[in-house]
Amino acid sequence: MELVVDAAIVGAGVAGLSTALFLGRADRSAIVFDGGTTRIESVEEVREYLGFDGLPPQELLSRARAEVHRYGVEIKRQRVTSVTPRADGLFEVHHGHSVTMARTVVLATGLIDKLPPLSGVSKAWGRDLRVCPCFDGYEVRGKRFVVFGVPKRLVHMASWVWMWSRDVTVVSEHAFTDAELDRLRLLDIDVIADEVTGLVHSGERLEALSTRGGKSIACGAAWIPADMVAASDLAASLCDVDDMGLARIDSGGRTSRAGVFAVGNAADPAAHLAHASAAGTNVGPHVVMYLLEREIERRTTNQ
Ligand SMILES: Cc1cc2nc3c(=O)[nH]c(=O)nc-3n(C[C@H](O)[C@H](O)[C@H](O)COP(=O)(O)OP(=O)(O)OC[C@H]3O[C@@H](n4cnc5c(N)ncnc54)[C@H](O)[C@@H]3O)c2cc1C
Repeated sequence: MELVVDAAIVGAGVAGLSTALFLGRADRSAIVFDGGTTRIESVEEVREYLGFDGLPPQELLSRARAEVHRYGVEIKRQRVTSVTPRADGLFEVHHGHSVTMARTVVLATGLIDKLPPLSGVSKAWGRDLRVCPCFDGYEVRGKRFVVFGVPKRLVHMASWVWMWSRDVTVVSEHAFTDAELDRLRLLDIDVIADEVTGLVHSGERLEALSTRGGKSIACGAAWIPADMVAASDLAASLCDVDDMGLARIDSGGRTSRAGVFAVGNAADPAAHLAHASAAGTNVGPHVVMYLLEREIERRTTNQ
C-alpha cells in the first residue's frame, strides 16, 4: 500500500513551519519541503516580531525547525517541482526524483522581490537597500533617505518613510501627477529627475547612488519599492491566483481547489513574520477539519 501523508507543506519559512507545528501537534503526518532560502534571510536581524526582535533570522528559523521536529514532522531540503491532483482526491507531490502522496497541500512558498539589475544590489539588499520602514526604519531614523524604484509605488514609499526622517529625496524620471507632486512638496520631499544606475559602497556599506546623469547622491539609507511575484508557479498550476501569481484564499486559507491551502507571502504580499506565523496557526484547524470531513465521507461510502 502506498504511503500517504496528511499534509505536504511546501516552504519552510515562518508560515510553513507554523503550519507544521500546528499539524504535528494535531497528531497529523506532515512533511515540509524547502529547496531554497526564505525571504527574511537577507537581513542581519529580525525586527518588529514580538519576542524575537534583534534575533538573526537563521537562529529564528533554526529554533522553529527544532520545535517542528519535536512533533515528528520531517523537513526535507528539496524543491517541489510540481503537484498533480488525482481523481481520488490525493495529490502527487514531485520533489527531486521522488513522489510523495498527500491528502492536502499547503503552499507556503513565499514571494520574490524583483530588484533592478544594478551591480552590488544583492550585497545591499536587506541591509542598506531597504524594503519597508516598519522593518528597519527605526535603525536609520533621521538619516538622509533616498527613494527609487517602481514608479507606481514611489510616492507612497517616499511619504511613508518621511515618518522616520525629514530628509527624503526621490530619484526618478517618472512623470508624476500634480496631485503626487503636491503631496511630496507638502512634506518637503525633493525629486531629482534622473535614473539610479549604480550603488556606491564604502567597504560593506552603501554610501551613495550613482545616476545616469552622472550624479553621486549620498544616502544614509536607500528605500526601494519593488514589484513582487510568487516564488513558485505551484499555486498557478493548482488554483486561482492574482496578477502576482499569489494564491487567492478565503479566511481559512482555502484556495479555489479543495485540499489545497496557502499561507504567508504565498497568498498575502503584505504579511510580515507575525502575520505569516499567525497564518499557519489559522490554517491548521481548517486542514484538520478538511481531513476529518474526508474521513467521514470515506466511512459513509464504505458502511
Ligand atoms: C529585506 C526584507 C526585510 C524584512 N524584514 C522583516 C522584519 O524585520 N520583520 C518582519 O516581520 N518581516 C520582515 N520581512 C518580511 C518577511 O521576510 C516575510 O514576512 C516572511 O519571510 C514571510 O514568510 P513566508 O513563510 O510566507 O515566506 P518565506 O519566508 O519567503 O518562505 C518561503 C519558502 O518557500 C520556499 N519555496 C518556494 N518555492 C518552493 C518550492 N517549489 N519547493 C520548495 N520550497 C519552496 C522558499 O525557498 C522559502 O524558503 C522582510 C522582508 C524583506 C524582503
